[in-house]
Amino acid sequence: MKEFISDKLQNMPISIFSTISKLALEHNAVNLGQGFPDFNGPEWIFDFALQAMKEGKNQYAPSYGILTLKKAIANYQKKYYDIDYDLSEVIVTAGATEALYDTFSAFINKGDEVILFEPYYDSYHSNIQLAGGIPKYVTLHKPDFAFDYAELESAITPNTKIIVLNNPHNPTGKVYSQEELNFIATLVVKYDLMVISDEVYEFLTYDGASHIPFASLPGMREKTVTISSSGKTFGFTGWKIGYALAKPEWIEAIHGIHQWTTFAVNTPGQHAMANAFDKLEEYLPDFRKLYQNKLNLMIDGLQQTNFNFFKPKGSYFIMAEFPNTFTDDQDAAIRLIKEYGVATIPPSVFYSKSDEGKTLLRLCFAKQDSTLLSGIDKLKSVK
Ligand code: PMP
Ligand code: GLN
Repeated sequence: MKEFISDKLQNMPISIFSTISKLALEHNAVNLGQGFPDFNGPEWIFDFALQAMKEGKNQYAPSYGILTLKKAIANYQKKYYDIDYDLSEVIVTAGATEALYDTFSAFINKGDEVILFEPYYDSYHSNIQLAGGIPKYVTLHKPDFAFDYAELESAITPNTKIIVLNNPHNPTGKVYSQEELNFIATLVVKYDLMVISDEVYEFLTYDGASHIPFASLPGMREKTVTISSSGKTFGFTGWKIGYALAKPEWIEAIHGIHQWTTFAVNTPGQHAMANAFDKLEEYLPDFRKLYQNKLNLMIDGLQQTNFNFFKPKGSYFIMAEFPNTFTDDQDAAIRLIKEYGVATIPPSVFYSKSDEGKTLLRLCFAKQDSTLLSGIDKLKSVK
């Protein structure tokens, strides 16, 4: 019998986020799993979207994104990081997810090797697989999720083309140090590599940690595709407005895929986000305070449980070791939902080389305080 489904989909997993959210819903569990806020972003952003709709901005947007949004993105990159991008160096995509897919598809030839720090965000792995690339892994080890410089350098072969960086890091909450970034930059030069830098949590850093965009390192702007998302910065993950920044030839290559996937991103949402980025300076202090408070609340709560957590410096996730009543992370995640009423993400699916993921769970704190408190209450009952 003829096989109709593409070989590319062989061994393609179902996203753990969909699996856990579905299970959480079925069991009415408090959802500290999938990474999205369970509260609204700012009301004034709705007003901008409504205004755009009423003004008739409801047809296809330009394929690269509307001018005002591209300008607003370039402006904040200049203001916060002193990186100059012109309008030919920005493309708007359907979330960071599409920017990632387009970028992996645009740069990977069959057999190209791509270095992933593990635990990795799962879409990188699937995108590399879809593009015919070969992932190579470098482990970020607990407790501080540092990597071994020699391990990274020895993962590079003549076929290596790309290093993927996610900073601040999902799921560990790691913020790469200046020294680590400098080391990666030396390898980029030494081995003529490019970097895909996923910085969707760029504004979510804690306790004085600050974000260093990879493209801000000397010489790295020309070697980097930076990807981010208004979904994280403004708390509207469902609007799916992301973007990529890179030199013009690389943006054109990314657009080569984008034009055949989504072609253009929803128009009123882009107008709303253009206005939102223009107000970033007013918005950020409260946003950052909100998440710092949520982190503090979570840390206080976790201290009263039998979970041994690793305090994050960024993102909205915490990794924690669970009590040894469970056999591994999958067992823990499933039983926590079914028996204790709280959903978390089992991170072993984000590892390909190390077994460390089997000892951990990822908790998301982008949730209302009441959700966090009731999640913690349930975790307290785990002995
Ligand atoms: N990269 C990382 C590291 C993420 O955590 C996420 C999802 N939250 C994305 C990309 C996808 O972003 P978006 O929702 O804009 O598609
Ligand atoms: N990035 C989100 C997380 O890490 C999930 C996004 C998705 O479900 N695709 O939880």
